[in-house]
Amino acid sequence: MSELRSAVEALRSETLPDLPDAQIEEDFAELQRTLELLEVERLRRLAEIERRRIFERDGYLSAASWLATTYKVSWGTARDHVRIARALEEMPATRRALDEGELSMSAVRVLVAARDADPSAFLRCETELVEAARIHSMHDLQRVAAYWRQAVERERAAEGDDMLRQRRRLHASVSFLGMVRVDGDLDPETGETLLTVLRAVLDAESRSRGEDDDRTPAQRRADALGEICRQWLDGSERPTVAGERPHVTVTVGAEAIQGASGGTSELDHVGPVHPEAARRLACDASVMRVVMAGRSEPLDVGRRTSVVPPAIRRAVIVRDHHCRFPGCDRPHTWCDAHHVVHWADGGPTALPNLVLLCRRHHRMVHQAGGFRLELEEGRPVFRRPDGSVLEDRAPP
Ligand SMILES: [Zn+2]
Ligand SMILES: [Zn+2]
Repeated sequence: MSELRSAVEALRSETLPDLPDAQIEEDFAELQRTLELLEVERLRRLAEIERRRIFERDGYLSAASWLATTYKVSWGTARDHVRIARALEEMPATRRALDEGELSMSAVRVLVAARDADPSAFLRCETELVEAARIHSMHDLQRVAAYWRQAVERERAAEGDDMLRQRRRLHASVSFLGMVRVDGDLDPETGETLLTVLRAVLDAESRSRGEDDDRTPAQRRADALGEICRQWLDGSERPTVAGERPHVTVTVGAEAIQGASGGTSELDHVGPVHPEAARRLACDASVMRVVMAGRSEPLDVGRRTSVVPPAIRRAVIVRDHHCRFPGCDRPHTWCDAHHVVHWADGGPTALPNLVLLCRRHHRMVHQAGGFRLELEEGRPVFRRPDGSVLEDRAPP
C-alpha cells in the first residue's frame, strides 16, 4: 500500500506545464484505467468486510452504515457501493471484462441495475450483456439494458389472469429445527397487497434508520413479514379464538429459563426452542408465558400471564420513545420491552428494570458473548463484547 502512496507522491511532484501534450494524454489514460482497477479492488475489500461482518465490532448493523459513518459518505452512495460490491461477486464475466480494462465502472453500474430485475436471468445472459457493454456507448448500453429488462418482464407476464388466480396457494408448515417453511403463489391482486405492505414496512424501517442493508433482501422481507404479524397480534381488533385473543405463547420450564440444563421451553406451534431464544422471547411484553413447575419455586405455575402488563409497557414507551441502543432510533412499535435483569433471575417487571430495544438490538443483547446491558446508577450502560463502554452516539 505504501508503494501506492509513493506513486501518488511522484505524480504530485510533476510540473504539468512542462510536459508535452502526448505525455499528458498518455498519463491521463493510464490514470483513468488505474482508477477503475483501484475501484474494483476497493469494492472487493468492501464485499469482504461485509462477508466477515467486521463492522459489527462497533455495533453497526450493516456495512453500509459503517461506510457512511466512518468515511462520511451519504447513505445513498454507501448503500449503492455495498450493493455493487455484493453484485460483482456474482457477476464473473463482468469481473473478467473489468480486470481486462474492457468495461468502465459506469457500464458496470448499468449492468448491476439490469441484474436487479432478475439475477438468474442475468446470469444466463451475462456474456451477451457484457459484450454489449464492450461495443456500445453508455447511451446505447442503457437502451440495450432497458430492452433486456422489458423482455424478461414480458416473458413473466405471458400467462392469462384467471389461469393465474386458479394457481393461488399458500403453505406454511413447521420444518427442520422449528423453522417454518412458507411457500406459495399469490394471485396478482393479493400479491400486490402483500408487496405493498412489505414495501411499506421496509420503507418505514429504512426511514427510521436507513442502515438495514446488512441483511439480504430475502432476510429483510422475512423480518418485515414477522413485523406485520406482530403488529396485527398487538392490534385490538383481532378476533378471539376460544374466548381469548390470539397471542404468541411460550411455555418454559423454570429450570430451563434460569439457564440450567434440562427442562424445555416450547412454543405452541413450532415446539421446542433454544434456551437463549426462550429467554429473549419470555423477556418481552407482547408474549404470554406459562411457567411449568421445576424443583425450584416457580412463578405463576401453569398460568398464562402476559410478561409485561400493558400499563407498564405504556410507561416504558412514554419514557423511552424509541430503541435505547446507542445511535438507534427505531420507534416503539418496532421495539420490545427488555428486562435488564431477567425476571427469571429475580429482576422486577418494573419501570427502572425495563428498557425499550428494537427487535434486532434486543436479539444482540441476549446473544451469549455479545453486547451487554447493565444498569449503572439507574442508567442503562451498553458494553461491547470486550467490556468497553459503547458511547451514546447521537442519532443522525
Ligand atoms: Zn430482553
Ligand atoms: Zn435498536
